[in-house]
Amino acid sequence: MHIKKHLGFTGLRKMLSNRFLKTSDNRDQSKTEYGFHDFFMTGFAMMFFQDPSLLAFQRRLQKVCNMNNLKTMFKIESIPKDSQLRDVLDQAPVDDLNRIFCDYLFQLQRGKHLELYQFLDGHYLMPLDGSDYFSSNKICCPGCLTKEKSKGQIRYHHQILQAAIVHPDVKQVLPLAPEPITNKDGSKKQDCEINAGKRIVFKIRKNHPKLKIIITGDGLYSKQPFVDELKKANMSYILVAKPTDHKILFEWVDELTGLGDGHRLELKMPKGRKHIYEWINDVPLNGQEHADNMSFFKFKIKDETGKITYKNSWVTDIPIDRSNIKDLVRGGRARWKIENETFNTLKNQGYHIEHNYGHGKKNLSLVFFILNLLAFYTHQILELTDLLYQQCRQDFSSRKEFWNQIRCTFRFMVFDSWEIMIKKIIGPPDYMPP
Ligand SMILES: [Zn+2]
Repeated sequence: MHIKKHLGFTGLRKMLSNRFLKTSDNRDQSKTEYGFHDFFMTGFAMMFFQDPSLLAFQRRLQKVCNMNNLKTMFKIESIPKDSQLRDVLDQAPVDDLNRIFCDYLFQLQRGKHLELYQFLDGHYLMPLDGSDYFSSNKICCPGCLTKEKSKGQIRYHHQILQAAIVHPDVKQVLPLAPEPITNKDGSKKQDCEINAGKRIVFKIRKNHPKLKIIITGDGLYSKQPFVDELKKANMSYILVAKPTDHKILFEWVDELTGLGDGHRLELKMPKGRKHIYEWINDVPLNGQEHADNMSFFKFKIKDETGKITYKNSWVTDIPIDRSNIKDLVRGGRARWKIENETFNTLKNQGYHIEHNYGHGKKNLSLVFFILNLLAFYTHQILELTDLLYQQCRQDFSSRKEFWNQIRCTFRFMVFDSWEIMIKKIIGPPDYMPP
């Protein structure tokens, strides 16, 4: 067992600072008083505390105490005005900001935390999933995707394709840089998830040349052109394959199973349930001449009355046998973690991902999304690695209560560091003599 390196708030904040300070700045220097650091860090802090009114409280502390927590904990020299923050972030270079996802992952790897996520022969499971993070009838920007509703009414929206490292037994999800599904300047054709999928696969491989990766995705991805991209990127895959999308594949499976090439494993589970695994190796994905042969597997759960309560089917490049079939099913099913534990958390657990912090004319909406995802990622790392954070979190019955306490403490007292604030929350209460 390796000794795991502690990654606390201040260490992570320093990593963010380093990256924010290195952001390329193409703005007219005569008009820019401050670099990107303070603006990025301010946006990040708002998302970190999930508090849209954070700046107002810190300005109040600054006025009364001549000091504030954004300065002590986040190294923000001066708190930007709200309108200035939006203007600057709208022009911010998104690619520079996205590099932090690599910095974080690299640190987790160095600190031996990534080992927890190894799955099937040292691979990392990486689900892909698309989601809307903004939608409106009125507000829009040139990057908005459009959908025509009835009576010529147009709905504007922004979509993102998200990749993350997950493990079926680990609660925390480690997001990678998101890939926007967006209309590029001058292009009439709308972008789509599968194209974003090809871009993200290329970028992930470029940023992580040696990582052993298994991409998982829904039925949209189990098509030959996308499989070709995965092969080029030297990645394995577990992709949902439904009978409605893969008529010829399912015909092959039926025929070969009839010839005795199929395999089956039935396991009796508690409460009379049954887990039924079926697989077959070396079947063509489709009827085309250059179609790849791959492995196919199905999984069903039957309850005590024999009713099917779950079923799904997948294709993979990994040869299947009795020793790995259960893990392959677990890997295929772990895709829900990105849907439930990432997107739903961002939308419903206080991150206000769809809350309109401002849409902007260029990048604002995306920059706020990325900062929000970074705040989520930072929380995931603290949950995973930071003893002080874990100890403090244990004192509260719910995540909501925990963050209410942190926001409240952060608003009314100035602390020299995050760690001191957390120790104060864990520590004995104060008596203020009259
Ligand atoms: Zn837009």
